[in-house]
Amino acid sequence: TKEKKILTLAGDGIGPEIMEQALHILDWVQNNSALSFHVEKDLVGGASIDQNGIPLTKEVIAKAKAADAVLFGAVGGPKWDGIGFDKRPELGIIGLRKELGLFANLRSTIVFDSLVEASTIKPEVIKGLDIMIVRESTGGVYFGEPRGIETLSDGTRKGVNTEVYTSFEIERIARVAFDLARQRQGHVCSVEKSNVMESGLLWREVVTELHKKEYFDIPLSHMLADNCAMQLVKNPRQFDIILTSNLFGDILSDLGAMLTGSLGMLPSATLGARQQNGVIPALYEPIHGSAPDIAGQGKANPLALILSLAMMLRYSFDEQDTSEKVVNACKAVLDQGFRTPDIMSAGMKLVGTEEMGKAVLAELQKSV
Ligand code: NAD
Ligand code: MN
Repeated sequence: TKEKKILTLAGDGIGPEIMEQALHILDWVQNNSALSFHVEKDLVGGASIDQNGIPLTKEVIAKAKAADAVLFGAVGGPKWDGIGFDKRPELGIIGLRKELGLFANLRSTIVFDSLVEASTIKPEVIKGLDIMIVRESTGGVYFGEPRGIETLSDGTRKGVNTEVYTSFEIERIARVAFDLARQRQGHVCSVEKSNVMESGLLWREVVTELHKKEYFDIPLSHMLADNCAMQLVKNPRQFDIILTSNLFGDILSDLGAMLTGSLGMLPSATLGARQQNGVIPALYEPIHGSAPDIAGQGKANPLALILSLAMMLRYSFDEQDTSEKVVNACKAVLDQGFRTPDIMSAGMKLVGTEEMGKAVLAELQKSV
């Protein structure tokens, strides 16, 4: 079979620590499946600022475009906090999304049985939870024009951002959500603020129309974003797929993440539109950041990145079996009581990043 090109961008903070473990898993996959990989590593975020003066170089953008998939760690940290807004490490990831046209951010919020107790929410509310948040990620208020900070003639300062969505952008993200719902035999809840925002009103209209035309077999509901935040805490299992904009998706998915009790457990995929050569640009990353508070201490949880790798096997390489093996290995390790500090509870085995990675590998070996 054809060699798949993977670009790994470990980034800052705990990024390189968890990436090391993910690369071991990638090796295992290469040795135990029909896939073979060509893995290239490069710098992004603060690490790229230190080396090249900017968070995302043209070379890295070109490599990402040429790759079949990008595996991303995390960027940012206090070292670069003073830097101008136009050069921050976070532009590493935002820029990649824009350059690769990665408009669909898929964030899964899964509660693993053995981690039910890690949540601050009652077990009976979240047991078995499995939500996918489909967040539009190249439009909306994070990119809309006009934007900026200006000083008015009387000295008052004004900060401006603009929420903008076109029917084209809404329709293509809605399609991703509906297609996923078909795969999962699930249902879609579309979330906006059509009561106070025109862009939300258009969102609701376009989603409704597309549903009527092409996806009437899929149950669809609509919800206002503030109510959705409330419902996510009150009764999260009412949701299957949540379809929403960039800003609301950012907030709701962090909320969703905390239902599960650990940021260090949750993977994500960001996908673009199919290219002429058949490749769908894709970037896989944990939803957490660079965790500067624990960086360099060898205690970061590598499972979110390893589960992101599992998503890569599923969505970019069509390797469902191997993907499932990786997910099951993570579950098994949790069932055996292995815990990094972020998910530690009484009576469990406290381990570091490397031990956690090794435990997953050992589990994978057993599956051969
Ligand atoms: P964070 O996700 O980095 O950390 C939040 C908390 O969760 C911290 O206490 C951290 O120790 C813990 N945590 C996160 N991931 C963990 C893991 N794998 N294992 C164990 N504990 C984990 O969010 P933050 O503190 O708000 O941001 C830190 C930096 O990361 C900032 O510079 C921010 O801009 C950046 N950031 C980057 C991304 C990204 O690269 N996509 C996403 C979010 C934040
Ligand atoms: Mn965020």
